[in-house]
Amino acid sequence: VDSMSPFSFLLGPAETTGDACESFLEAARARHGTGFNIVQLCVQDHTDQDPPHLHVQVHLKNRHGQVTSDGWAQVNNVSLESMRAAAQRLGNINIHMHGPPVRQPVSRELFERLWSTSVDLGEPEILALQKQGKGSCPICLLDYSVGDSLLCLPCEGEHSGHWACLQPWLEQASTCPACRFAMPVASDASDPALHESLVTKSIAAVEKLKAPSPSLASAVSARRLERAEARAAQRKLPSSEAPSPPASPNSVVPD
Ligand SMILES: [Zn+2]
Ligand SMILES: [Zn+2]
Ligand SMILES: [Zn+2]
Repeated sequence: VDSMSPFSFLLGPAETTGDACESFLEAARARHGTGFNIVQLCVQDHTDQDPPHLHVQVHLKNRHGQVTSDGWAQVNNVSLESMRAAAQRLGNINIHMHGPPVRQPVSRELFERLWSTSVDLGEPEILALQKQGKGSCPICLLDYSVGDSLLCLPCEGEHSGHWACLQPWLEQASTCPACRFAMPVASDASDPALHESLVTKSIAAVEKLKAPSPSLASAVSARRLERAEARAAQRKLPSSEAPSPPASPNSVVPD
């Protein structure tokens, strides 16, 4: 690359080789033998430092569902984009960004409304998730089972996870753990229209999973929203009781 090129600023951080990220990932996979594939990379982005680098932890899984992880490795002179591209070339690998430690929980009001959109998984929803290449939870890496409660986040990637895994995450963070999509934080002024549009996106993602019977999904979502609104209304009444976190959603079937 001609360093005097007027476009050199477009090239981003210099890379040791074009395939530095791919070599790193291939080497990690090779260390674990043929049975294991990389399913997730935990990444901390230090490309603003000198030298620019990423900290990467590789998580692997074999066909029996066994999960194993490498320690954190430092990969110098690569960009986050090149790591994302290499992960995409190698297959269905999640990128889980480890952001700066200062995080804020998602807005409590939005948290409760998102909870109201969570669904209990049946076989058809699990099949739909598998078809989308999202058959396992990005946080605990386990495959979904019938009866698991699933939350679809309102990000463009429609990333989803166990409600039980996303609940503690959203109590500390306001982003999608897979793509860092930002949601309103607790200290933001309440914006009902924004909340509404985010909740609508989550419901739409859920309805896609339930495509064969959209009327059921709509009915379930509507009931859950009513319940969430009823709880919110109760909370506004004068009461000495401290607000309690929402319990796990009830099964949709006996409703
Ligand atoms: Zn570092
Ligand atoms: Zn999980
Ligand atoms: Zn996402």
